[in-house]
Amino acid sequence: MRRPIIAGNWKMNKTKVEARELASRLRRDLHDVFDRDIVLCPPFTVLFAVWSEIEGSQIEMGAQNMVWEGPGAYTGEICGEMIKETGCQYVILGHSERRQYFKETDAIINKKLLKAFFYRLNPIVCVGETLKERESGRETEVVSAQIEGCFAGLSEEAMVKTVVAYEPVWAIGTGRTATPEQANEMHEYIRTVIAKLFGKDCAEKVRIQYGGSVKPDNVDEIMAQPDIDGALVGGASLKPEPFARIVRFENI
Ligand code: PEP
Repeated sequence: MRRPIIAGNWKMNKTKVEARELASRLRRDLHDVFDRDIVLCPPFTVLFAVWSEIEGSQIEMGAQNMVWEGPGAYTGEICGEMIKETGCQYVILGHSERRQYFKETDAIINKKLLKAFFYRLNPIVCVGETLKERESGRETEVVSAQIEGCFAGLSEEAMVKTVVAYEPVWAIGTGRTATPEQANEMHEYIRTVIAKLFGKDCAEKVRIQYGGSVKPDNVDEIMAQPDIDGALVGGASLKPEPFARIVRFENI
């Protein structure tokens, strides 16, 4: 049985005051939810502030990126050691916005992933095809290549701790979601690729989140799919009511 995991990716939003307000409100509104993992992923600048609001609760925290190196001469970057110190247990790697705007490749994401484990951070690794790739029928080819590239050299033990986020790029921030069946089909496929690389037992344990315009009104249907173990939520994680409702998805 895979434990559901709902994560909110705040992207480049929230001042310190706003972040504290959102985090404290979520702590209050979700105080009774213990049967699923809840992860807030604020920007670097407010990680300490958010942690001060949620420390001691069941809510966990993740960063949105990290460098593949330890401390040193990497002006403008943030390393795993620093992220760990803020209170984070997770780090998002390879989000499509980082692949698109900052030219992150699977090889770079792989280096970051191995470093994340060194600092005992659980990675949430994003994969997903663009609209053009889906329209040309290449979505499985693209996603399997991302998985092979991102997870190269990983032990089975580390793979089990890794969360995969399937985020079709065409569904991010567009209001356009993959149908629950379309999403589940890809999740099932991802599990077969992981089984081929790490064994069936490992693939059955890996949690695969769906991301792409998840909202209160579609989360129940999405979470009802057998291979969908959670959601990575962007826009709808910026306000307490919709995010709390998404966390409280109902089993239908
Ligand atoms: C995301 O960026 O990870 C995401 C899923 O965004 P949204 O929910 O806004 O589509």
